[in-house]
Amino acid sequence: MKTIGLIGGMSWESTATYYKLLNEEVKAQLGGLHSAKIVMMSVDFAEIEKMQMQGDWDAAAQVLSQAAVSLQSAGADFFLICTNTMHKVAEQVQSAVAIPLLHIADATGSALVSNSIKSVGLLGTAFTMEQDFYKGRLIEQFDLDVVIPNSAERQLVHRIIYEELCLGKIENRSKQQYLDVVHNLVDRGAQAIILGCTEISLLISAADTEIPLYDTTSIHAHRAVNRALNE
Ligand code: GLU
Repeated sequence: MKTIGLIGGMSWESTATYYKLLNEEVKAQLGGLHSAKIVMMSVDFAEIEKMQMQGDWDAAAQVLSQAAVSLQSAGADFFLICTNTMHKVAEQVQSAVAIPLLHIADATGSALVSNSIKSVGLLGTAFTMEQDFYKGRLIEQFDLDVVIPNSAERQLVHRIIYEELCLGKIENRSKQQYLDVVHNLVDRGAQAIILGCTEISLLISAADTEIPLYDTTSIHAHRAVNRALNE
């Protein structure tokens, strides 16, 4: 079994989910007392969030690059950045180490393509929904049509991530608001929805809607276990 490296803490609420999913999947595949081999560097999200707000992505890239170097030294065979948003600096982080990054958008794009989804709605932070580092990758590398919420909806989705989900607050009102956004994306042609922020599955899940949801946390974790065990 390969050792999985995690750059976590963005937020720790979703990194806890990663840890659980990785171990559950290894146990499901190998049985018995088997569990995942993991090394983790977990950052202080308050520091990272400040850099995001200031637009100081180079500083954030340095923090994550240092974390990746530590994972490599600790024996990780490959690594994950446990947030969609921080894949904005994925190339810089990858260039700091020799071990490969398992990119969250690639894992998600592959899952969509293998289910013959062509048009997909995207929920995430404003950075993820509006900028090309994520959406552009899905369009260019996976030939997907990506539908994003309108401006007011994007603000709502973004605010709930930072003011509630990353703080572990799960509110019924926010859940209903997210489901309304999901339905509007489907009305505009989306066949499925990417939960493109690793905390969104704390708020909405398959039990809440018949629309197919592609939870990036779960897809990323499953893909990591397959790489650790089978590749
Ligand atoms: N975990 C979130 C994501 O997947 C947002 C937190 C962050 O800005 O990294 O995008």
